[in-house]
Order: sequence, then structure tokens, then C-alpha cells
Amino acid sequence: MFAYKPRGRFYSARTLLTYLYLILFFGLPFLKYKGEPFLLLNIIERKFVVFGFVFWSQDFYLFGITMILFVVFIIVFTVAFGRLFCGWACPQTVFMEMVFRKIEYWIDGDAPKQQALQRMSWNEEKIRKRLTKWVVFYVVSFLIGNTFLAYVIGMDELKIIISDPWGMHVKGFLAMLVFSLVFFMLYLRFREQVCTVVCPYGRLQGVLLDRYSVVVAYDYVRGEPREKNRKGAERKGGDCVDCNLCVHVCPTGIDIRNGTQLDCTNCTACIDACDFMMDKMQKPRGLIRYASEANIADGKPFIITPRLKAYIAVLLVLLAGWLVILFSRSSVDMEVRKVAGLLYQERVDGTVTNLYNVMFLNKSHNNYDRLHVRVLGADAHLEWVGNKDSFIRLPKEGMVRLTGYIVMKQNAVKERQQKLQLGLYHGDHLLQSEKTVFLAPVEK
Ligand code: SF4
Ligand code: SF4
Repeated sequence: MFAYKPRGRFYSARTLLTYLYLILFFGLPFLKYKGEPFLLLNIIERKFVVFGFVFWSQDFYLFGITMILFVVFIIVFTVAFGRLFCGWACPQTVFMEMVFRKIEYWIDGDAPKQQALQRMSWNEEKIRKRLTKWVVFYVVSFLIGNTFLAYVIGMDELKIIISDPWGMHVKGFLAMLVFSLVFFMLYLRFREQVCTVVCPYGRLQGVLLDRYSVVVAYDYVRGEPREKNRKGAERKGGDCVDCNLCVHVCPTGIDIRNGTQLDCTNCTACIDACDFMMDKMQKPRGLIRYASEANIADGKPFIITPRLKAYIAVLLVLLAGWLVILFSRSSVDMEVRKVAGLLYQERVDGTVTNLYNVMFLNKSHNNYDRLHVRVLGADAHLEWVGNKDSFIRLPKEGMVRLTGYIVMKQNAVKERQQKLQLGLYHGDHLLQSEKTVFLAPVEK
């Protein structure tokens, strides 16, 4: 696809936004909060840090709700504003249209020069331009690939992989190579097909958009019947002069005058192109603009339809539940599992013991030095194997696994399979409680 370079107010605004976007994208992995990455999506260790909040696989339910919330948000946003996100904030569009295509304009020139270069035989100029483009594309892809990797493994880990001899981190180097090559091929060959063929969000437009959704649209009421401009001749048709500029600048190669199409990424290039032509024709801008079908056909302004209100209500309910869960979740988790295959042990001192594996997980940025576990509501206590002082030391964002006995006097045993509750304390403050089962012989 050889799209002409857009020029205009929307393109300038998108360029400014791209600068901010790139600063954030490349800068975020360097940001730390209390010694931890501000944003980390470590799917390998199933550890996620989002704006300083640490999530582990134990928080999967929260992750699930977040996903549902995200999907509902996307639905609300799309019903109201179509693919606004695609045009302004989707990483694929930002990198394709505002980074790689700009590099292409810089090296190869605008669309006609790109086409000429494509048709050219492999002479000195073509080899030089192609090599320059491939090298620059690869360097940028390498930076993007490594930044993505930093979001997964953390910037500290990435620096270690880069600074150590490559033989020490073969997997890390392979990941860097694969990430870079994927982005290189994506932006060199696959390009806008990600949006038109692969992206499921693009496909969703067909079911989400209605006649009140605001999208990049051609005002056919004002524009039709289109009529070429002829010098000296009086215009009888609509405002569209059939210059095809809107088609030439479209990165997905569609004609927006044919109506809203799934291939349209709402990149706004056609708005700028048409505004340019309207200025030249001394006609009002906005023949192509952000508008709904209801606005174009009936002149109706943007309204919040009952359907949109219902979606917003669902979104708010979910958001409220999500916030409650997020801020009420404990900073420390405890998981108690009875050791499989063992029933109970009777000691000569008249007590009965059960053996447990206990896992402690610290999701906060604080170190805990003196955590302890009590058996709640029963005459029993815990003895850790190999831990004499009974305190648990739990480093920030760390995990500790211990094995311990719950010890109960035989005469305190009430039933053969007794339900117990364990409380994890920091001082006298109960952080977390967990239920388990205690097995013992019952005296007749
Ligand atoms: S139709 Fe317009 S907004 Fe849609 S992709 Fe093409 S140029 Fe961009
Ligand atoms: S740029 Fe505007 S005037 Fe030119 S063909 Fe497209 S809609 Fe018509």
C-alpha cells in the first residue's frame, strides 16, 4: 500500500501525541516504585505489577474481573466513538503510521516516489535506499522488541542479559532476537494487514457500531452527487470534487465515501486530506469528519442512547466491585495444605499432630520480620519444622514455604475431622486467615 503522506491539523495532533506515547512506552520500564518496576507483566513467573500494585497468580480472580471490565469498557467506548482508540492510541497504528511510515517517507519519499522505487530495477539507488530502510527498521524494531521484553522480565534483568556474555543467557538472547525479528517483519511486510485481517477488535465493529456511533465518516448529504471541478463551469453537484485525495492518503486503501468499513482504522488522514481540498475550494471543512450516521442523515447531535446507558451502568457496577476487591485484598496471602498421605501422629505427651505445607506470599512493598500464625478458636498451636522462634520472615514481594505441625491435646479433640482456622498475624494485627482440617482419633 503506497499511502500519500497526510498533512493537516489531525496529523499534527497525532504527531504530538506520538511523542508523548513514545516517551511513555520507552520510559515506563525505567520507572520504579519502592524499588520495583512501575509496570511489569511477567507472564513467565506469573507476577504482574500495575502502577505499583503487585499481583500474583493468587490474584487471578482480580485479573479475570479486570479483563471483563476492560472488555466492557471497550464495548462502551466503541459503541460511542467507534475505532477512536485504533487511530490515536493503538500501538500497532502508532508504530506503523507515525514511526515506520514516517521513516519510509524520509528515506523513500512520498507515495509516487515509493512506487517508482518499487518498479525500479536493483540499481545503486535502490540498493542504497533499501539497505538504509532495512537497517533503520531493524534498529527501531530491536528497540521496540527489547522494550517489550523489559515489560515482561523487568529492565534490571534485561540489562543483565545485555551486559553479561551472551552464553550466560542463551534464552534471553533468543527472546531478544525473536522479539526484534517479529517486529521487523511485522512493520516491513505485514503492516496494515494487522488491522484489516488479524485484529479481532476491528472485526467487532460490525456488531458494536450503530447509527449513533461517532466514526470518521463522509457527509454524503453534503457531498453527493460528487462532481469534478471544471474551470469556469458552474457546479451543480455536491461539495465532493472527486479528487480522490481521501483515497490516496488512506493507509488501508479504502474509499470512505463508500460508507463505514471494517478496514477503516479511524486514522483521520482522509479528514485532513478533504479539509485541505475544501480549503482550496473555499468551502467549509468537515465533508469528512467525526460524525454519526444519525448526525449526517438527520442532523442529530451526539446523544447517549438507552443502549449506551445500559452499557455504562454495567461498566460502573463492575468498576465499583473491582475497586472494592482491589483495595480490600490483603497484602499478604497464606495457603495451607495438609501433607498428602499422612493422617495424624500421636505423641507420648498426650498430644496429636497433623503435618501441613504452608505458603506465604507478600504482595506488598514492605518487609515483614515477625509474622506468626495462631490457631483460632481451638486449644492448639503450630510448630514449624526447623524454625525454633516460630516467627516468619517474609521479604517484600517474596514467597516463603514452610512445613509445620498443628499440635492439639488429645482431650481437646472434638471430632475425628475437625475444621480449624489459622490466623496470620503481624503483632496483634490479623492479616489473613485460612481454613483447614485437622484429623485425630476421638476418645470413646
Ligand atoms: S478511511 Fe480515512 S480514517 Fe479510515 S483508514 Fe482510511 S484514511 Fe484512515
Ligand atoms: S477528498 Fe473530499 S472532495 Fe476529494 S474525493 Fe475525498 S471526499 Fe471528495
